[in-house]
Amino acid sequence: MSGERSQLAALPLDDKVRMLTGADSWRIPGCDALGLRPMVTSDGPSGVRGTTLDESNPSSCLPCPSALGATWDPELVRELAAALGAEARGKGVDILLAPTINLMRTPLAGRGFECFSEDPELTARIAVAYVTGVQSAGVAATVKHYVGNDSETERWTYDARIAEQVLRELYLVPFEASVREAGAAVVMAAYNVVNGSRMTEHSGLLRAVLKGEWGFTGVVTSDWDATRSTVPTAVGGLDLAMPGPNRFWGSALAEAVRAGLVTEEMVNDKVARLLSVARRVGAFSDAPAAAADGNGGSPPALVAAGLLRRAVAASLVLLHNDGAVLPLDAGGARRVAVIGPNALHPVIQGGGSARVIPASPPAPVQALREAFGAQVAVTAAPGCWTWQGVPEPPRGSVSDPVTGDPGVRLEFSTANGQVFAGEHRAATALAWWDGLPPGVGWGESGVIRLRAAFRAETGGPHEFGAAGVGRLTITVNGEVAAQGETRVPADPVETMTRPGEIRGQVTLPGGQDAAVEVEFRPAAACQGPVALRLGITPSADEQTLMAEAVAAAAAADVAIVVVGSAETSESEGYDRDTLALPGRQDELVRRVAAACPRTVVVVNAGMPVLMPWAGEVGAVIYAWLPGQAVGEALADVLLGRAEPGGRLPVTLPAAEADCPVLHAQPRDGRLDYAEGLLIGYRGYDAAGITPMFPFGHGLGYTSWDYESLSGPAAALAPGTDAQFRIRVRNTGTRPGREVVQAYVTGAPGNGGRPVRVLGAFGGVTAAPGEVAEVTLRVPARIFAVFDEEAGQWSWPPGDFTVQAGRSSRDLRLSVSVRSG
Ligand code: BGC
Repeated sequence: MSGERSQLAALPLDDKVRMLTGADSWRIPGCDALGLRPMVTSDGPSGVRGTTLDESNPSSCLPCPSALGATWDPELVRELAAALGAEARGKGVDILLAPTINLMRTPLAGRGFECFSEDPELTARIAVAYVTGVQSAGVAATVKHYVGNDSETERWTYDARIAEQVLRELYLVPFEASVREAGAAVVMAAYNVVNGSRMTEHSGLLRAVLKGEWGFTGVVTSDWDATRSTVPTAVGGLDLAMPGPNRFWGSALAEAVRAGLVTEEMVNDKVARLLSVARRVGAFSDAPAAAADGNGGSPPALVAAGLLRRAVAASLVLLHNDGAVLPLDAGGARRVAVIGPNALHPVIQGGGSARVIPASPPAPVQALREAFGAQVAVTAAPGCWTWQGVPEPPRGSVSDPVTGDPGVRLEFSTANGQVFAGEHRAATALAWWDGLPPGVGWGESGVIRLRAAFRAETGGPHEFGAAGVGRLTITVNGEVAAQGETRVPADPVETMTRPGEIRGQVTLPGGQDAAVEVEFRPAAACQGPVALRLGITPSADEQTLMAEAVAAAAAADVAIVVVGSAETSESEGYDRDTLALPGRQDELVRRVAAACPRTVVVVNAGMPVLMPWAGEVGAVIYAWLPGQAVGEALADVLLGRAEPGGRLPVTLPAAEADCPVLHAQPRDGRLDYAEGLLIGYRGYDAAGITPMFPFGHGLGYTSWDYESLSGPAAALAPGTDAQFRIRVRNTGTRPGREVVQAYVTGAPGNGGRPVRVLGAFGGVTAAPGEVAEVTLRVPARIFAVFDEEAGQWSWPPGDFTVQAGRSSRDLRLSVSVRSG
């Protein structure tokens, strides 16, 4: 460090400060004098996007983080994250903006799908595995969003009022583990305020806790555009303002140093931290990381298809299996009806910065057809539609009118129609952070025009939609079908995730090309990526859709109903307002189940939804937002080629009113974490409420006996971990994997303390009849309380009971432990 320090001392202040603000949306500037090339950052948690959201640069689309939490399998997550890191490396990405390790405080959190769990210990174990995996590929992981960004409503400004004890015992736990155990290279400071101080300025949490107590030597980056002051951020502990330019840093920071408001030593420390990350990712080498555009020069190594498929199967949670409907016997079924809006259009990922263009599009119906084989007739029917924005036209139905290739033509023109640039694009949903031609974008007068020839498969009325923030016109065969101006959203990410849409209906003949044109004038004042999406879908009659699905179910031996979130239900930038399934999906499930006794429901949602029909159907599988391998993995699990290996990382409620924290709506800008420690299963236990499916639940395809549990014979000394040995037996007829869970009850203190908390877990596999043993280490912290007055952990003497079992509500064995 000291050689570097002297090099740094020789560097002019302006050069040092320049390195601490983004060069553009994703790049961190290099420094020739130091031999440092620019470093590239890129989202995100379930795939690495690169610096553009461009179909020519697709990415492996992994199961969403809540699905990774559902594996309860740190080793699998490490393996997957290492493959993700390798893909990032191949794309020229140095710093991956993942994982998100906030907790699922409320099931309505729009970004809950990006989190691993409602429990800090499970989150910490998965986070450590994820960070270790990514960083093993020579890429820096960014743990985010530090801290208190557990919901989206007013996320840029809300003041999360969180007691210090609650921060320490819940929300900080995964961050501390990622820094101390996994050596996370980057921490992202959140947009929100915590206890009166913006997180980008929070010297208590950044300097004292993160850098002081935990000894973090990496970089604290701001969340994107979260740097909103000069001196308080610089002094508070922020090291890097992203993206650039940023008016509060750059020359303003240099001036603050000259004015004596920020010391040059502080700037040196920030640069030194940046250089240490640069060294870890190889940014001092002469060669740029692949292509320094974050998209890579040659095709990057994608995550292996087999690994994705295995990971999805390991994340699927079998919630209920009445009469062992699953696994299905392919030989026993002649006709299978695959039903539901999400069967035809699965939602494979959540919205926002986590979104990637999947390297291979999901095709669950086709995968099921292939898996069942030619002798089984597989029919498909949506039953209802849940879309909020008109779906994009199916691949192959639109072509570029200039080249005739599948896709669309994009043209950029001046306000009065002079075309100055054009290109072919294979996609119908487009987004740009950087890279639009000069004169086009927010506040510019340039026009984006999308042209396509659309061929309807069958004639009839069609819905046309154009989504974007600004003024839009849709023209079909020379006639204006819709025109209007959409509103500027509250959160910049909504320009991409749910921009306003104009719609029109046009009747088209089947099998003939229609000339479609969308003219888009981006809004005068807006932030975030510029995005444009074309939607075209046949107009559908709801009664007919439902009737067709019910008829298909009645004619089938087995109905597989895939219901869940709509494309825009779960996203960064906003929270959901209900846990109910969108549209008529509850009715669809009930009517299908009434028509077909062997009905299996697959729930495609990243976070909890209500399932009032769960007891009326044969089996229910929770499938999360499973990424691109959904079809193959689902087929494997339904047909018993793989076990549904998941366990719930979040409680599934029977009713909204049962949730310990439902809405996260700030009042007058304040968001009180009034529930204290009682989030998730802790809240259900304290209130004596039985959830529909408890935290930790998941059946798999075999059964297990819990035979013995032994713990430490002597009293635990304060600050020591405790080991427990558990023996289980596979009592079923298939090999399987069991997730053995240990919960600690009788925690010290009273009033507001949880009844029990997850202490440790571990996976074991065993063949039928076989015994397996697992040793679980419960961290010392679980037996402690954070003493706010003393500002430290304390281990009050007391008696605990450690219970082992299959879920937080299925505890089979117990042992007493004395602490102190
Ligand atoms: C999100 C971050 C993300 C960043 C860059 C922000 O709006 O909160 O999670 O990494 O954008 O896309």
